[in-house]
Amino acid sequence: MAYTYDDENIFAKILRGEIPNDTVLETEHSLAFNDIRPQAPLHVLVIPKGKYVNYDDFATNASDAEILDYTRAISKVCAMKGVAADGFRMISNAGRDGVQEVPHLHVHILGGRDLGRMLNPA
Ligand code: 5GP
Repeated sequence: MAYTYDDENIFAKILRGEIPNDTVLETEHSLAFNDIRPQAPLHVLVIPKGKYVNYDDFATNASDAEILDYTRAISKVCAMKGVAADGFRMISNAGRDGVQEVPHLHVHILGGRDLGRMLNPA
């Protein structure tokens, strides 16, 4: 599927330096920062610097270098924050049914407490 990227989304503004962020890690192709409304003791968002709407867009259209950098950046954040041993959750919401608020790919890394079951019953 072809995706249309909205240059005015909030993470695009963060990447352009128009809005501040609490950076955890910056790499060549990725940026990780604390979520403004944390839902767990650890709640970091990891985004690619490239213009990708969601994971499907990224996995289909990003370069190998971007995908490698992004995948490793997520792992580095887990190591930096010390959640690898006790566990963590990665979430990447996409589109309407995924209830994606910001249309720039982001993975939520959540941890620091027992996160309970994955989904609430519908
Ligand atoms: P989504 O629902 O799209 O998966 O998640 C978007 C996330 O972005 C939410 O957890 C929300 O708290 C976070 N968020 C929205 N605006 C900002 C912002 O300006 N700065 C930061 N750091 N996080 C934001």
